[in-house]
Amino acid sequence: MRLRHLAMALSKLPAHPFREPSLEQYGTDGETAARWLYSINAEEPFEETDGVIDLGAGNGILGIGALLLGAPNAIFVEIDADVCESLRNAISSLNLDDRCRILNGDVCTLEEGQLIRDLVIMNPPWGRQTPRADRPFLDAATKCARDSIHLLHGRGASHIESWAEKAGWEAKKWMEVDLPMPAIYSHHTKKMRTTEAAMWWIKRPAR
Ligand code: SAH
Repeated sequence: MRLRHLAMALSKLPAHPFREPSLEQYGTDGETAARWLYSINAEEPFEETDGVIDLGAGNGILGIGALLLGAPNAIFVEIDADVCESLRNAISSLNLDDRCRILNGDVCTLEEGQLIRDLVIMNPPWGRQTPRADRPFLDAATKCARDSIHLLHGRGASHIESWAEKAGWEAKKWMEVDLPMPAIYSHHTKKMRTTEAAMWWIKRPAR
């Protein structure tokens, strides 16, 4: 699938309902998701993996994009039941039901060995509303990823590399984007704003 087609398909997914500000539901836009997933695919082809796990899945844009690029299956974890409903719709709209599993639950409850795939992809809460809200996601990702964690976070996040080192992984920031923010978060204005974000590639060192 070409980059432009992937961006178009992802931009058309049923939208994230964005109802619960405390859960920091900043979604990834179709263009950004497509560019990021394309870059990941060039380094770690999705079709050569055993599947992906999308933590804090929202409307599933990241896991669905991985499926469209050839991942054999995707597991989506999302705490908000309403959001899981739009996720289900997004998956069905592309007839991907057979390759998907949705877990409506909290990433904090994931246990070692419960879910494992080669890659984890996530745009977790960044901790702007609730300090350290990203930490359970980072911990869950190390339990779920066999090889790599692909993380989208605020560009200023300075703890990712040191956190990864402590956990025995290697993190590098390898892309930067201006992420469009939904109007509900750009306080008192309906205009679309952007926020500075970056992508980290966090690898388990070769054993
Ligand atoms: N992955 C999507 C959504 C990102 S927003 C995208 O990139 O567009 C982060 C998502 O994480 C929200 O949908 C929010 O409801 C979910 N979330 C927040 N805390 C969670 C938790 N503890 N466990 C699982 N999902 C959570």
